[in-house]
Amino acid sequence: MSAVLEVRDLTRRFGGITAVDGVSFSVAEGEVLGIIGPNGSGKSTLFNCILGQIEPSAGHVLLDGEDVTGLRPSALNRRGVSRTFQLLQVFPNLSARENLILAGQEHRGSMMGRLFGAADAGLSAEAEAMIGFFRLERVADTRAGSLSYGQQKLLDAAMAFMAGPRLVLLDEPAGGVNPSMLAALKDRLAAINREKGATFVVIEHNMDFVMSLCTRILVLAEGRILAEGKPYDVRNDPRVIEAYLGH
Ligand code: ADP
Ligand code: MG
Repeated sequence: MSAVLEVRDLTRRFGGITAVDGVSFSVAEGEVLGIIGPNGSGKSTLFNCILGQIEPSAGHVLLDGEDVTGLRPSALNRRGVSRTFQLLQVFPNLSARENLILAGQEHRGSMMGRLFGAADAGLSAEAEAMIGFFRLERVADTRAGSLSYGQQKLLDAAMAFMAGPRLVLLDEPAGGVNPSMLAALKDRLAAINREKGATFVVIEHNMDFVMSLCTRILVLAEGRILAEGKPYDVRNDPRVIEAYLGH
């Protein structure tokens, strides 16, 4: 069986900087892969290349064995790939529920939704289900901009799961989230992986979060894979401690 996601020799240069330098890995169905590494090690650039936000300088991205390198984000959304960004992408003047419906329209590429501004019944029901799943009931009709930062991160994660994606890439979902909200976020992500079989790739700085959520971890340093393995082994790898944890 082919991997859900396979990255082959991916490279991205910005002028004289090689932000991602010949990175290869694959992600199996249902896996939760963590990507860690110091600031500037190329994690976000890697995501941007996978998701068509920027073009790789070299290398390939395959989904279910099919080459999708350079496809636009909207085309990838329709193939069941979704993401969150390092910086929040919620619309502050829309309610949490409206943000979810809009995300569902984006993922489906629903022209009808965009033209008429009306959510179809399917998306409304799905937004309702996500509100329940991410326990956002009490804030569903609140302006996203007036939610706490942690609640906005939870909403942002919920938005990525609209339209039933198979593969979700999360860029620092725990960044700036307080401990109690963090536990809720981790619990919900673990549950969605378990219950819906979604495959994740998670960039995260919070070690406890990534160690407890992920089944396998990849360590990037200066655009290259420094180490890869089970959370416990990676945490105790002297090269990783030197390059990352020791900072
Ligand atoms: P990380 O997410 O691991 O912190 P990034 O992927 O954001 O790392 O950045 C990797 C390197 O690429 C850094 O040196 C950064 O300055 C550079 N970089 C990222 N995006 C751009 C860009 N759009 N233009 C120029 N340099 C960039
Ligand atoms: Mg980043």
